Amino acid sequence: MSLNVADIRQQFPILFREVNGRPLVYLDNAATTQKPLAVINALVDYYTQCNSNVHRGAHYLSDEATRRYEAARQTVATYINAGRSEEVIWTSGTTEGINLVANGVAQRLKAGDDVLVTEMEHHADLVTWQQACKRSGATLKVVPIHDNGELNVDAFHESLSDNTAFVAMPHVSNALGTVNPIKELTAAAKSKGALVLVDGAQGVAHGAIDVQDIGCDFYAFSGHKVFGPTGIGVLWGRFDVLNEWPVWLVGGEMIATVSYQDATWGELPNRLEAGTPNIAGVIGLAAALDWIQQYDAAEIRAHEQALLARATELAKQTEGLRIIGDAPNKIGVLSFVLEGAHPADIGFLLDKQGIAIRTGDHCAQPLMKRLNVPGTARASFTIYNTLDEVDQLFAGINKARMMLA
Ligand code: PLP
Repeated sequence: MSLNVADIRQQFPILFREVNGRPLVYLDNAATTQKPLAVINALVDYYTQCNSNVHRGAHYLSDEATRRYEAARQTVATYINAGRSEEVIWTSGTTEGINLVANGVAQRLKAGDDVLVTEMEHHADLVTWQQACKRSGATLKVVPIHDNGELNVDAFHESLSDNTAFVAMPHVSNALGTVNPIKELTAAAKSKGALVLVDGAQGVAHGAIDVQDIGCDFYAFSGHKVFGPTGIGVLWGRFDVLNEWPVWLVGGEMIATVSYQDATWGELPNRLEAGTPNIAGVIGLAAALDWIQQYDAAEIRAHEQALLARATELAKQTEGLRIIGDAPNKIGVLSFVLEGAHPADIGFLLDKQGIAIRTGDHCAQPLMKRLNVPGTARASFTIYNTLDEVDQLFAGINKARMMLA
């Protein structure tokens, strides 16, 4: 199906509401995407037609809920080209997925090991590995970026050694939009015997992912950034690695046998999924992935690039505006600062005009420090945004600029 943005917008009721008396211009998609009717209806359908607990009931609804729930696992496995659906572990989001990996590899990390992260890390990835290093005695090495927000790939290669036990990096930077060459970086890290985690929070919304082609060991993402519900996410991991991990949360669903004295653990994926899961979230996420896959990934990418190109062009014409993050391979994000204005003031004045962006440190405080900015204003684009909205953003910025002068 070819990309008809007007038709796509019709599927997002929220895009037609007013904010502060103005039609909403939603440009905060890197924080969370809006939900199409296909997802909203899947949630309503689940709760009105088949709400029940999974894997437990000896009754019709429970069987149906279980079927839908496990079919959703297969939908995710296909979307990311996982080798097998048991490699798809449900989490509450990217943050929990990364923490789950840190729990899993904790026994492997020891003093003398290096853990590599990048200067563009989101706190979810940075803090998790920083704390894992503190606990294990491993050394956290932070690979630098260039001033334009591109990863310093030479420095990455130089940082790798036989001591590199683990590498964690973002597929796409949430603060800058930089797309990292994760396949090349993964291959280099794997050649040193390291395990590799890709933080896919921002990678997943811009087209199907092929975890086998990337070659990484783990890929974590959140449903809400790919048109799905909040509170549901995915950790994909290699079966053989996940299978040897210690268990994570313990309780119902993840056990094989229990006595008063002891317990044995179930098989993957259940052994890493204790308790009643977010069944509606899982079904909503599968609906979101089914929804996005009706559109051609190359067309989505081209549309987003056209929005970014227009925004970049207008940004360059705006007096006093400095783009933060101008890597050659960039996706859907325009971060900027405006001379003489705090990013929070720009966000406030745009909000008054119905334009939603994000301002602040974007959960990347060390990165803001590295780039010597207090924070940025960030507009992020997706499939349902229009060139007209980009123009409205810049009309809004110019108005804000006048007011702040
Ligand atoms: N990593 C990146 C690159 C992100 O952009 C985000 C969220 O913005 C996260 C991790 C954390 O995602 P969540 O809050 O959904 O767990």
